[in-house]
Amino acid sequence: MKNLVGLSRAELLEEMRGFGAEPFRARQLWHWIYNRGATSFDAMTSLSKAFRARLAEHYAIERPTVSRALRSTDGTRKWLLRFSDGNEAETVHIPEEDRGTLCVSSQVGCTLTCKFCHTGTQRLVRNLEAAEIVGQVMIARDALGEWPSPPEDRQLTNIVLMGMGEPLYNYENVAKALKIVMDGEGLSLSKRKITLSTSGVVPMIRRCGAELQVNLAISLHAVRDELRDVLVPINKKWPIAELLQACREYPSASNARRITFEYVMLKDVNDSPADARELVRLLKGIPAKVNLIPFNPWPGAPFERSTERAIAAFADIVFAAGYSAPVRTPRGEDIMAACGQLKSDSVRLRASERLRVGMSAAEA
Ligand code: SAH
Ligand code: SF4
Repeated sequence: MKNLVGLSRAELLEEMRGFGAEPFRARQLWHWIYNRGATSFDAMTSLSKAFRARLAEHYAIERPTVSRALRSTDGTRKWLLRFSDGNEAETVHIPEEDRGTLCVSSQVGCTLTCKFCHTGTQRLVRNLEAAEIVGQVMIARDALGEWPSPPEDRQLTNIVLMGMGEPLYNYENVAKALKIVMDGEGLSLSKRKITLSTSGVVPMIRRCGAELQVNLAISLHAVRDELRDVLVPINKKWPIAELLQACREYPSASNARRITFEYVMLKDVNDSPADARELVRLLKGIPAKVNLIPFNPWPGAPFERSTERAIAAFADIVFAAGYSAPVRTPRGEDIMAACGQLKSDSVRLRASERLRVGMSAAEA
């Protein structure tokens, strides 16, 4: 049966036309699926019983299934989701005082292999379909009890594409999913509340800027090509200067909507005052803010987190140059939900490794 979730508005309209239904039916379906969160045709009470029955014979409204749900002591929640082919990916909800951010995955595993990232060590990789990306938002809405799409006081106010995978290596599906998520008659999250994080797929940054105008985050992590080549290997294809040029040209960037530069703090690798000064020099002329991410450990990782002192000194230099430079507090570390800790192929961790990353045996 064909899944209606993940079809664009135009595709849904076309589908209903082929099904012999009038165009307004497509609009009704859209509303039920994305505004009301209906999980069955039966729930769609504005459609006639006969039509609902006929739809149910041909179509499904399918979400991924939750194969494990974890909640951190800090309120962060993580769902391991299983897709119809048995593959899995993780989605994380991070509640804060005045907002709640959903961290969405774009791939099972990742095409790339950044040295400090747990996801990059996962062997099996495939792109997620648009339905599987939108499905993550719908599952979170289910769990948070946020149907119909609430106009205010939401627990899910922001989306970041910072889960597993490189979103710009799965651009078509990500773009399709985000257009569904941004649709005002459905999930209704504005482009200003959506941030796409990329390790630097330069040609796709241009497309993303032209077509989606979401906020951009760049995983920079190093200020010299020799080091970035090692830490973020895609740098060999698109080095720092080209990446920053694409940022300068990013159309929706402005002082009100700055580009976020993510910088993972690795002890004695990229955390010196000289690195901070070079970062400031590189960012000149770009409406930028810097996000310092203390390295989050995972079993077998070849790095250590920078000391608090080194992080503070680095932040001071960036801040003094006029950039906001918050240090990202690790969230959900006890459930391996923090940045760069996501991984979904089943690894049996040795007891010593579990201890090191603070997991309980039940979770491993
Ligand atoms: N693939 C995309 C988006 C997912 S990663 C990208 O790389 O931008 C989200 C952020 O977490 C990226 O900035 C990534 O570099 C960072 N990250 C990866 N591993 C990390 C780790 N172990 N500790 C802290 N941050 C990490
Ligand atoms: Fe992939 Fe991003 Fe991890 Fe690099 S940091 S391996 S691009 S998920």
